[in-house]
Parts: sequence; structure tokens; C-alpha cells
Amino acid sequence: MSQCEAGYLCDVCGFDVESITDSDLYLRYVLGDVSAEELDMSRERHVRCNPTLAQFIVDDHFDPVRCEGPFAKDQLDPAYVAEEETRVTRGWKRLQELPSSGLPITEYPLPEVIQAREQQRPEMPDRERQSEYAARMGNYLDGISAMKHREN
Ligand SMILES: [Zn+2]
Repeated sequence: MSQCEAGYLCDVCGFDVESITDSDLYLRYVLGDVSAEELDMSRERHVRCNPTLAQFIVDDHFDPVRCEGPFAKDQLDPAYVAEEETRVTRGWKRLQELPSSGLPITEYPLPEVIQAREQQRPEMPDRERQSEYAARMGNYLDGISAMKHREN
């Protein structure tokens, strides 16, 4: 099967996920719920075919999706719902802008997601980031070794 020619078929409805802007997988990547590694391995889905997430998109350009059952918005804590609506709607808006943005895929996620990842993985292989991190940490480490010297 050649996925390049066939495009990626939705795991739920079976139709082609024609654009990244319709992709639930990429939406979750933008939101930081899916890692870059998982992106290659996960099944594709339309944003609308995942109502559990899509119900939180509140935008004039998006037809509201209703989710039924225990994960429906009206079953959840209103504070959580408000938070998710803000977060998921921001992610969805970013997703709509990505095709024309020219950004590399590593910079698709929301700024706070990228930031959190960099903090989680200071030992990442990217040498430039590593030295940037080292520079940032330099003062802190100097401070510690100065303290240790004083203790000895
Ligand atoms: Zn679908």
C-alpha cells in the first residue's frame, strides 16, 4: 500500500484525511498530547471524527461537535471544560495556520508545549540547544561550585 498516493485514511470513517488542518493526529501533536515519534506510528483521524476532543473547539469557523456519553462536556467539571476549550481552540486555530506558516514540523506545537519539552529533555542531541542550555545553566552551576568551594 502506498500511503503517499492514497493519503491517510481516517481510522473512524474510512475517508481520506485530505489536509493537516482536518487531522486529529496533528491537532493532538500541536497540543502536545502526541509526541513527534508517535506521529509516525499513530492512526490518522479527522478532527470531527474524534468528538471527545473536537467538542472543545469553539470557533465561528468550526461547526460545533457534540460528544455523547461520559466524556460529554456537560458531564465534566465546568472549570476543566473552560480550560480545555481555551487550550484546544488555540491548538485548532494554530493547526489552521500551519500549512501557510512555513514552519518546520518540530515547531508546530504550541509555544508552551515546545518550552516544556525543552525543559524535560535538557540532554537532547541537538548540539546547539545543548550549548544554549549549558549557557543558561552556567551561572547556576558556577554558583553551586562556588558554594562547594566555600564549604571545603
Ligand atoms: Zn473521519
